[in-house]
Amino acid sequence: IKWTEGRGWHDGQLVPYGPLSVDPANMTLHYAQEIFEGLKAYRRPDGSVSLFRPEANAERFQISARRLAMPELPVETFVAACDALVKQDQAWVPQHGGEESLYLRPFMIANEVGLGVRPANEYLFLVIASPAGAYFPGGVKPVSVWLSENYVRAVPGGMGFAKTGGNYAASLLAQAEAAAKGCDQVVWLDALEHKWVEEMGGMNLYFVYGDKIVTPELTGSLLAGITRDSLLRVARDLGYTSEEGRISTEQWKRDTENGTLTEVFACGTAAVITPVGTVKSTAGEWQQSGGEPGEVTLRLRKALLDIQTGKAEDVHGWTHRIA
Ligand code: PMP
Repeated sequence: IKWTEGRGWHDGQLVPYGPLSVDPANMTLHYAQEIFEGLKAYRRPDGSVSLFRPEANAERFQISARRLAMPELPVETFVAACDALVKQDQAWVPQHGGEESLYLRPFMIANEVGLGVRPANEYLFLVIASPAGAYFPGGVKPVSVWLSENYVRAVPGGMGFAKTGGNYAASLLAQAEAAAKGCDQVVWLDALEHKWVEEMGGMNLYFVYGDKIVTPELTGSLLAGITRDSLLRVARDLGYTSEEGRISTEQWKRDTENGTLTEVFACGTAAVITPVGTVKSTAGEWQQSGGEPGEVTLRLRKALLDIQTGKAEDVHGWTHRIA
């Protein structure tokens, strides 16, 4: 779908996958005016296909658009575009039973040719799709994490709450640092004090204190994950207490050592829920729940996945069926 100044959104088309032809002076290539989303289509027990909370992705896409000085796409248009593509590609949605899905990547780029720094006057909204395998084919396995003090992902007043490529470009070197420390993922801390836990590379974090789960509050420099939001509610359905709060790296280490912090997990569209195992930082190294996936982590993972794949009743109205 195209957007042009004065005309708005127009000329939506469903076309076979193929390369885009891009002018070397396309403004996206120079000034990174780009935003994206990620969501999954799952096959249900009755053979039909559904998306999980696509309206929430559409709303976050509008928030990202505003921050990047781009035009907002109506929620209905975003969802209708996802719908049309999934319908066309139904055969690529895996059979019910596993965790496989068809991953959708809606995105918007500036489409004006020019070398001045200002918001473009033309944009392109596209959706592409790719089959996604189960994240943990051999069973859920904890990840190891590195608490990054050398790099920050986002600063107050910056773009951390938007889903834009620049945030991920800023993360690559930190991710390489985490790998050099022998860790799978980087954990971001706040930009001012390098003390407050924000999120993981592509997932939000939860801290399990017995039957209470706590996730870092939305400070403006981390992404408001849809999985994060869903879990605040699913946890309550299962009888846990769930809340947003502030967790420092010192508290993380201390509460693990004194046994009050029983599990830590990360959550996002890709893995749904990933347990955190080994934690490494400049203050030392420790293990969550003996390096095994915790009981609360696995219970929440199953509960959310069952709603997403249609195995459990969806009391929240999160399921969007493809007609
Ligand atoms: N934080 C970041 C930086 C991410 O890229 C993602 C993945 N979109 C998340 C958190 C989790 O968000 P969601 O649950 O909407 O996938």
